[in-house]
Amino acid sequence: MLTPGERDRYDRQMMIREIGQEGQEKLKRSRVVIAGAGGLGSPIAIYLTAAGIGMIRVIDHDQVALSNLNRQILHWEEDVGRKKVDSAKTKLRNLNSGVEIEAIAETITEGNVSQLVDGCDGIVDAMDNLPTRYILNRCAIEKNVPFFHGAVIGFEGRVMTIIPGETACLRCMYRGPVPQEKFPVIGVTPAVIGCIQATEVIKYLLGIGKLVTNRLLIYDGLEVAFTEFKVNKNPNCDHCGSLVRKE
Ligand SMILES: [Zn+2]
Repeated sequence: MLTPGERDRYDRQMMIREIGQEGQEKLKRSRVVIAGAGGLGSPIAIYLTAAGIGMIRVIDHDQVALSNLNRQILHWEEDVGRKKVDSAKTKLRNLNSGVEIEAIAETITEGNVSQLVDGCDGIVDAMDNLPTRYILNRCAIEKNVPFFHGAVIGFEGRVMTIIPGETACLRCMYRGPVPQEKFPVIGVTPAVIGCIQATEVIKYLLGIGKLVTNRLLIYDGLEVAFTEFKVNKNPNCDHCGSLVRKE
């Protein structure tokens, strides 16, 4: 299934015992949605494209602004004013032409989310606001696809992976709306968090390792410390509470 060029390109990662040729073929057959082409979406998209995920759908309604460039490394000075998904598609295609990139310039809403993520094997949270994260969390649960949560502020970030029907979801952990506002961030923070999210996606698709489930991983860049706390599945959760555990 892999071409000679792909065998060459992915040689180093196929040397990893847990990946091999079979794993690489799994990645090639996989379809992943990245919700957001900003600070988190940039490293996530770059590393998943480099790793050889078969299809990546990037969703973002926004246009590139100068104030994005301190962290949104997919976008460069020449892209200011351009749609983020178009900028992303150009860079990702130049990085790896073997990956199919779908660029969707839409705002994610309750009305369109189901269609936007249709047919994917996983949804990566690269958003900057909790209301849209809730929309994605609920949709992922309804569609029974994993949701890879990540968030950043300043030098701090957090990660949790949600497997519908099995693990605690975002809504089990956070309740109530949080106001959408401009928040501080330096680019190295979403780089760290986005790379952990991309690692989670790859592990999930390959069925290897231990996912960040039922626990919230917190990264403190100033102290260079990772801590985590347990997140319990809430049986009364309004997003996942009605799901019966899969046998
Ligand atoms: Zn829940």
